[in-house]
Formats: sequence, structure tokens, C-alpha cells
Amino acid sequence: MDHHQAAATLAGLLEGNGRFVAGAPRYRRDIVAARGAAPEQMPGAVVFTCIDSRVTAESVFDCDFGQLLVVRTAGHVPDRAAVGSLEFAAAEMGVSLVVVLGHERCGAVDAALNAVRADTHDPRSGYLVEQLWQPASQALAETAEPDAAASRAMRLQVRRTVADLDRRASLDGVLIVGAVYDLDTGQVTLVDEH
Ligand SMILES: [Zn+2]
Repeated sequence: MDHHQAAATLAGLLEGNGRFVAGAPRYRRDIVAARGAAPEQMPGAVVFTCIDSRVTAESVFDCDFGQLLVVRTAGHVPDRAAVGSLEFAAAEMGVSLVVVLGHERCGAVDAALNAVRADTHDPRSGYLVEQLWQPASQALAETAEPDAAASRAMRLQVRRTVADLDRRASLDGVLIVGAVYDLDTGQVTLVDEH
């Protein structure tokens, strides 16, 4: 499958992230911009990220209204409605790129790590913890150091989400890449696939 368009879109997003990091965003995203974009949208990509209040995809990639679709679930768990939204974006809006964006100090990942350590969990967060149990337990098997385990589990979950989406025939032709957002620097770094 030719990912030429998707690769160009990804390069554009990373350029936008560079502007964000440099403190020189191109877009104000004010009411004038909102009105300008109101008649129609032509988004080139979907960012599938966590619900975390510190991870604002439009800011992180310096995108204007109408340029970016955003799907969010805690820990970017790819459950049915989230995947259906990605399928819809690909089929109906011609989006050719999905960026799965994890982030440091993820509360969802931390909840799963704590649950694995205690071998029990709060039933209210049970669904999410179940979904994140595998990367959390794998990370803890590799390292007991808390920060390292959290970072490892988050990266495993990014790769797992990318692999899950890659397997789906409904997303054939869509370039799916994993990336990590650094809360302190604002930098987005691609996660190498393997
Ligand atoms: Zn998170």
C-alpha cells in the first residue's frame, strides 16, 4: 500500500509539534479560525490518544480547527467505539494516517501497574485495568523500578494499540504509527515498530 500521502501528513504533524515545542504556534484557534473552518472539514489524520487533561492533540501538533480528528480513551484502549471512529474516519473522510499517542505519567497505566502489584483492583476501574493488565504485568516482569516500569508499560501499550489496529482489514491502507508525548518538553517522539 502506498503511504506517500500519509507520510507527508505525518511529517506535517511533526513540523507542527516542532512549532509547539519552540513556542511559535501558527494557529490561534480563536473564534475567527472556528468560523473560517465551520463550512467544511478536511482532516488529514486521526490522533488516538489518552483522555489525560494535559495531552491536547491540537496544541501538541499545532493544528487548526478542521485539520485533526481526535479519538480519546483512557490509556488509548482500542475498544469498539474507538476503533469504529477510526474506521469511520478512514472510510468516510479519507483519512490515511492514525497516530497512536501515549504519554508519560499516564494515570490509566499507573492504575494498571498498581493493580498488578497488589494483584487486585477497584471494581470501578476494573474494565480499564483489565485492558491494561497485559502491558502492566509485562513491564513489571522486566523492571521493578517504578518510573521505568511506568514508561515501559506505556510504550508497550502504544505498540499493542498500533498492532491491534494494524491487524484490522477495515483499516487497510491506513498508515498507523505509535508515538510518545513528553509532558515536560512538549516533544512527540515516534516509537519504532517491532
Ligand atoms: Zn494517560
